[in-house]
Amino acid sequence: MSLVTLRRRYLDGETTPSEVLAKLAEEIVSRDPRTGAYLSSDLALALKAAAEADLSRPLGGLPIAIKDNINTLGQSCSCGSRFLEKNYISPYDATVIKKLKEAGAIPFGRMNMDEFAMGSATENSALQLTRNPHDHDRIAGGSSGGSAAAVADGTAFAALGSDTGGSIRQPASHCGIVGLKPTYGRVSRFGLVAFASSLDQIGPLTRTVDDAALILQVIAGHDPQDSTSLDEPVPDYAAGINDGVKGIRIGIPKEYFGEGIHPGVRENVETRIKQLELLGAVIVPISLPYTEHAVATYYVIAPAEASSNLSRFDGIRYGNRAQNPADIIDLYHQSRELGFGPEVKRRIILGTYVLSSGYYDAYYTRAQKVRSLIARDFNQAFEVVDVILSPVAPTPARKINSSNDDPLQDYLADIFTIPANLAGIPAMSIPCGSTSFDGSENLPVGIQILAPHLGEAMMLRVAKAAEGLPLP
Ligand code: GLN
Repeated sequence: MSLVTLRRRYLDGETTPSEVLAKLAEEIVSRDPRTGAYLSSDLALALKAAAEADLSRPLGGLPIAIKDNINTLGQSCSCGSRFLEKNYISPYDATVIKKLKEAGAIPFGRMNMDEFAMGSATENSALQLTRNPHDHDRIAGGSSGGSAAAVADGTAFAALGSDTGGSIRQPASHCGIVGLKPTYGRVSRFGLVAFASSLDQIGPLTRTVDDAALILQVIAGHDPQDSTSLDEPVPDYAAGINDGVKGIRIGIPKEYFGEGIHPGVRENVETRIKQLELLGAVIVPISLPYTEHAVATYYVIAPAEASSNLSRFDGIRYGNRAQNPADIIDLYHQSRELGFGPEVKRRIILGTYVLSSGYYDAYYTRAQKVRSLIARDFNQAFEVVDVILSPVAPTPARKINSSNDDPLQDYLADIFTIPANLAGIPAMSIPCGSTSFDGSENLPVGIQILAPHLGEAMMLRVAKAAEGLPLP
């Protein structure tokens, strides 16, 4: 059931938040042991909120699952890491949580994720494995894999995730649901544990486009506690959402349809584009020539920022602390050695390297220049088109443990989602049928809609028109 439907049922008196939460808790007990989306859920706390829920508010009584890197007062915030698994309970609410609560929502469930959001499969969680509800031998995607899997599995109505290079859109695509990464600065990052601060954004994972708009409406807006949040008015996202695509110019970037795309993914996305054309959209072939440099650019900038952000995990201030260290240096060493998993260490080493004197200009400064060129590609494209359409990922969900310990394979698969983060523009993933892949049938495929800076309303409008169109 969508949030919109659940809300209507509350208002019609057909059910209550307490009833729904109790049901949800039962579903989690019976279904989640196989899927592994939830790290924890505090029913007693949620029932307390349910008893006081004001149903007249926009999200009154609606339970929303939260990725475990978004601080929620009194709850865990492990970031999928041994470092914070124990000894850390959030002392405050992130701004998005504050806004959800003010709108009447009930944060319920802490969702599994790749450690510190570094990964594309949730296999880098130090805490547990999350499986794709469509095929339990496959990954749910990542890093917001728990959030996506729960929504797809029917153990959550909607969830929040974070997206630094695709972590909302890619798991949404692999699990057959909707995922939205807002414009950089549209949603406050205050209380989100930072991975790469110039790329991170919080956004919704939902069953429907309307639900994504509903949550975005609540969490968007300026926040004095996040100096990168934009002081721009938040439009009414529901207002034009049903206006259709007649006359809308849709750019199709040739670089996003090249080699390496699974034929089933390409076919579904191309069919959807033709359908939108039949509805009156104007299809415009475009080029985003710097696309091929996006992954390399990201893997300089994101680790550089991560190495700085993660220096706060030193064994003194948060979470894991080494026992019986010889001295303070040994305390740092041991706490970090035992607290961080291999991918996080790899990113810290990469980031420290590209920031070191002597390499700073060769890597970091250069990457920043290429980043500007990638943003310029989009600026030029949006002079002639309203939105851009592409696949979300080159293939459907791969099998668990099939990346053969080669992290590059997964890095490269983020080629279509990373550019939006580098450019700071909004992008969303919506379901686009299913296809056979690697011995499995009916695996979900996603289509990505990218829009100009603060173009969420237009993006949602195109998404709504595309949602639910029949695919063979
Ligand atoms: N897969 C990318 C990475 O590992 C993106 C992760 C994210 O968006 N948080 O960095």
